[in-house]
Amino acid sequence: MSHINRFTAEDIYNDPFGYTYEEYSTVLGENAASDFYGNIYSSPKKSKYKTIKSKEVLRGRDTNKYVFELSDGYCIETVCIKRRTGTTVCVSTMVGCPVGCVFCASGENGFIRNLTPSEIVQQVIFVEEKVNRIVYMGMGEPLLNYDNVIKSIHILRDRRGLDFPTDGITISTVGPLNQLKKLREEHLKIHLTLSLHATNQTTRNRVLPHMKSYRIEDIVESVLDYSERHNRMVTIAYLLIPGVNDHMSDVKQLGKWFRNKNVLINLLQYNETNYQGIRRPNKQELVAFRDKLNNVGLTVKIRESRGGKIKAACGQLVSKRNKRSDNQQHKNKMSSNRSYKTQHIAKTKTNSKKNNPKKHAASN
Ligand code: SF4
Repeated sequence: MSHINRFTAEDIYNDPFGYTYEEYSTVLGENAASDFYGNIYSSPKKSKYKTIKSKEVLRGRDTNKYVFELSDGYCIETVCIKRRTGTTVCVSTMVGCPVGCVFCASGENGFIRNLTPSEIVQQVIFVEEKVNRIVYMGMGEPLLNYDNVIKSIHILRDRRGLDFPTDGITISTVGPLNQLKKLREEHLKIHLTLSLHATNQTTRNRVLPHMKSYRIEDIVESVLDYSERHNRMVTIAYLLIPGVNDHMSDVKQLGKWFRNKNVLINLLQYNETNYQGIRRPNKQELVAFRDKLNNVGLTVKIRESRGGKIKAACGQLVSKRNKRSDNQQHKNKMSSNRSYKTQHIAKTKTNSKKNNPKKHAASN
C-alpha cells in the first residue's frame, strides 16, 4: 500500500476487523496473530468486536435493506439481494458521496466521511444472510476511498479468515482516472463495473456533475485497458434517461466503443428519489433501447430494478439521517463513544496482556 499507517496492538484489539493478517502478525507476533485472527474469524457473526450497529432492516420479497449506525452516530446502508444462485451484498464505502449524480440520493448531503476498512468488512459479516457475492456499489464512490476499499478486499479474501472468493467481488465506479490506473496494477482480479450513463462529455457532466475533470473517452479507454490486462469482462452500467441519453447517436457511440470487446452493457432503470428533473423509463423504452444496442452488435442485459418497495436505491433511506443539521446529535454521540472507547481499551489491554503481544508500531 502506498501510504503509511501507524497503529498499535491496542488498535488491533479494539477494532480487529480493520487489519490484515500481515498487520496482525507484524504488530502482535506470529503466534498471537494466528491465535487472535483464528478466534475472530471462527464465528465472526457472534463477535463482541462489532463497531457498527444494525438500526433497521427493511424486508422486501427478494431484497433486504440494512441501516447500520456507525460508532460516531452516522448511518450507512447495506442491501442484500437474493439471486437464483445465492445472495449478493451491496456495501457502502462512504457516508454521503462527493460525486453528486443527479439520480442518486446518497450525494444529496455531499460527502461526510470515508468508511474504514473495518466498517466495510463488517457490513459483509453482520447482514443476516450468508452471501456469496459482494458489490461495492452502495453509498459512496469506492475508488475515491481507494486505500480503505483495497484493504477491505485483502481482509475479506484472506484464506485464514473469511476466505471470500475474489471472483465474487465487484467494484462499481464512476471512473476517477488515477485510481482506475492504480487498480489496473493491483493483483486482485476483481470484477469492474463502470457507471457510464452517457456517451458524450456534455451529457455526462450533466448527469455526474462532479466528474467534469475527467474526459469520458479516457475513462472508457482505461476501463477497456483493465479488461484486457486482467482478461475480465467489464460491465458498463447505463442508466437510461429518456430524452437525455437514449438517442441514436448514443447507440452508435456505444457500438463504436464496445463492439467486439469483452463488455456487457447493463441497462438500468432509474429508481425515484427526490430529484424531479428526470423521468423513469417504462419497460417498452428499455426494451427498445436494448434492441437498438443488440443491432449494433452489443451484449446487453436489462437489470431488473429490485427493492423499489423498500426504497433500496442507494442513499434513499439514510440521507435524511445524515443531514448536517444533525451535527449536535453527532457531537453527543462522539463524546459518549469516546468514553465507551476508553472503557473498551481498558478491557482489551487486559486481554492483550493475557495474549502477551509486543506492543509496537507498524507500518504498511
Ligand atoms: Fe455517489 Fe454512486 Fe450515488 Fe453517484 S451513484 S452520487 S457515485 S453513491
